Amino acid sequence: MIDKQFKKEAFKESVKENVKFLYRKKLEEATQEQIFQAVCYTVKDVIIDNWLETQNAYKEQDPKTVYYMSMEFLMGRALGNNLINLTAYKEVKEALDELGLDLNVIEDQEPDPALGNGGLGRLAACFLDSLATLNYSAYGCGIRYRYGMFKQQIKDGYQVEVPDNWLKDGYPFELRRPEYAKEVHFGGYVDVEYDPATGSNKFVHKGYQAVKAVPFDMPIVGYNNKIVNTLRIWDAEPIVDFELDSFDKGDYKKAVEQENLARNIVEVLYPNDNHMAGKELRLKQQYFFVSASLQAAIDKYKKNHKDIMKLHEKVTFQMNDTHPTVAVAELMRILMDEEGLGWDDAWSVTTKCVAYTNHTIMAEALEKWPVELFSRLLPRVYQIIEEINRRFILDIQAKYPGNYDKIKKMAILYDGQVKMAHLAIVAGYSVNGVAKLHTEILKKQELKDFYEMMPEKFNNKTNGITQRRFLLHGNQLLADWVTDHIGPEWITDLSQISKLKVYVDDEKAQQEFMNIKYQNKVRLAKYILEHNGVEVNPRSIFDVQVKRLHEYKRQLLNILHVIYLYDQIKKHPEMDFYPRTFIFGAKASAGYARAKKIIKLINSVADVVNNDASIEGKLKVVFIENYRVSNAEMIFAAADVSEQISTASKEASGTGNMKFMLNGAPTLGTMDGANVEIVDEVGKENAFIFGLSADEVINYENNGGYDPRVIYNTDDEIRQVLTELVNGTFSSDTELFRDLYNSLLNQNGGERADQYFILADFRSYAAAQKKVEEAYKDEKGWARMAMLNTACAGKFTSDRTIQEYVDDIWHLDKVFVK
Ligand SMILES: *Cc1c(COP(=O)(O)O)cnc(C)c1O
Repeated sequence: MIDKQFKKEAFKESVKENVKFLYRKKLEEATQEQIFQAVCYTVKDVIIDNWLETQNAYKEQDPKTVYYMSMEFLMGRALGNNLINLTAYKEVKEALDELGLDLNVIEDQEPDPALGNGGLGRLAACFLDSLATLNYSAYGCGIRYRYGMFKQQIKDGYQVEVPDNWLKDGYPFELRRPEYAKEVHFGGYVDVEYDPATGSNKFVHKGYQAVKAVPFDMPIVGYNNKIVNTLRIWDAEPIVDFELDSFDKGDYKKAVEQENLARNIVEVLYPNDNHMAGKELRLKQQYFFVSASLQAAIDKYKKNHKDIMKLHEKVTFQMNDTHPTVAVAELMRILMDEEGLGWDDAWSVTTKCVAYTNHTIMAEALEKWPVELFSRLLPRVYQIIEEINRRFILDIQAKYPGNYDKIKKMAILYDGQVKMAHLAIVAGYSVNGVAKLHTEILKKQELKDFYEMMPEKFNNKTNGITQRRFLLHGNQLLADWVTDHIGPEWITDLSQISKLKVYVDDEKAQQEFMNIKYQNKVRLAKYILEHNGVEVNPRSIFDVQVKRLHEYKRQLLNILHVIYLYDQIKKHPEMDFYPRTFIFGAKASAGYARAKKIIKLINSVADVVNNDASIEGKLKVVFIENYRVSNAEMIFAAADVSEQISTASKEASGTGNMKFMLNGAPTLGTMDGANVEIVDEVGKENAFIFGLSADEVINYENNGGYDPRVIYNTDDEIRQVLTELVNGTFSSDTELFRDLYNSLLNQNGGERADQYFILADFRSYAAAQKKVEEAYKDEKGWARMAMLNTACAGKFTSDRTIQEYVDDIWHLDKVFVK
């Protein structure tokens, strides 16, 4: 697409005009940040035209729309991605070159909009990209957090959290839409009033605090198809500006409270990944964006449709994990209290409109709200949940007469708690897991009772990633090489990438492929030198584990193995050892002490290992600060080995594993999540698989765990590694890592010793690592394996995932913009 704005001369003029208009400056006088803004406004101009045309096409063709409801959208930077999807990246790069500007430097001015924690939020972002690219009408619905995911600094080896004020300089790709503002109500009580018009009782919510929800829209540009969808994120404002005379009216206190509520509600993203914090403000955030999004969706529907009973023909709501599942009861409330439907009609519509995606089986992540809190904050919504629960229990009793165990296990309200997953399953017309193994575990273990009662709802949708960001933008050298060999169809049809298979034994292709990997490693080495002051050898094996820091992901297993290798090299200096660089990147939730201690351990080991001249640079350890989407793109491109070493059964899918694979890094991993399907695609001879299976782990867990002491007592080398945690090798403070040491060996309260099976898997991990080294020494064999990983990654595009959601769940029609 060569739009008029992307004719080079016109583009250059427009950038200069914008600098003048925005800053009253000439280009030469502008800062890089100002130039960044000016470039964005030029690009936004083009996008807005397409945005309008898309919305017109939707109005004319009236397609069904999916509302993807998610607390998190981990978008990453927009400028580069928008240029890629407008197919204008190269023209713009040249135009800026001619102005003496470097597009890479300009891209680096953009803050990463980090409105998400990790995989779940990034999935939502990939889905929006795929929905737009596949010509489907879609909204992302979320929260405009003032502060997104914190910035991580490493000080003295410790994680320090710094607020992420991403809106500080204004965000050029957002549009405030005050005309679509909605009110959201909290607290108060419910009155029953007789309504003479209908001759029946109605429920009236009174004495509440109100907040104004104001939407900001961000454009989601489809690839080369003129579609621009919308990510709509909600800001909170006080209903009325603070008025002094409310003092006199006596509602001063309430005015202050409403103002504070509005100020607090969207202040910050909770930095917990796979962990439920249980904070009142979090529930407020959930209801806030869900209520506003549902109101907006229904308003939009009613503009062109009369019959609310047919809502499901034009609208569907996908709930990304349990975070937005209060939508079930809120939709019921709107349909009954505002649209005037009776219970049965409202239930019939609701249960055809909402669908639920489960993202985890880990108990600490499942959302359960205390009834006291829930009913106080959302009295009318709670009342509706009570009625849903009452009726559901009748259904259970009808199906399993006299079986009270079923009620105990499946009720929505039990033990003084509101179980959000149960609410979502009972109301949802679809319940999906995010990888084959995960969905099987849901059906056989975690949600077994629900699966037995309503098997037709359950389905699998294996996650995916967008190749537009994680190959076309993140690894431009490889993207060009792929296009030179098989044409550009892979950009919108990743199954085409299998055509690379004919090259895997071609020596010239192998050399080119590995030379691109080398150049990407040089780029990352430069970044590491700049950011960490550590020199790493781009000829060494780049062994990478980047993802949230969580015990189940077992960064601890990785670093213990590094210690083991260090011991080996020290003990046998003559030993044949291929140089290795272990690269970590991970944020830990601010309140997760043990995860933060693992970060400290990695940095402490790095200090010792990197500065030990006696090992001659054979081993390097690097912790990359502030892992986020923008540096992720560069890291995946440079990786030789993809560490996916979670305790089997704990990682629902993973998507980092797919990004590595697409960029030619074989998986070193357990048979967990989507690793299973990666191995299915690429063959187990082209991956390094180790460790207990999910069944074995679950078996141990159901029988009280295992005894890591047996391993500790019998394996001298493992015992040595553990001893070094507490004998001063990596810290003069021998107590610093005592908790980590204890967690591996001693039961502590309800926590089993080594509950993530690190010692159980250690030997098989070390053996797999040895195989990696041997395989890497065989240059041609490795090149072949790396290329096969790229060539077999076709399944893992989010385009495939989205098409499956469309075919099996949403049933959307494509819309074309001329
Ligand atoms: C893909 C991605 C994740 C998810 O990684 P997993 O290895 O699947 O946990 C997290 N953070 C960022 C920035 C990502 O790009």
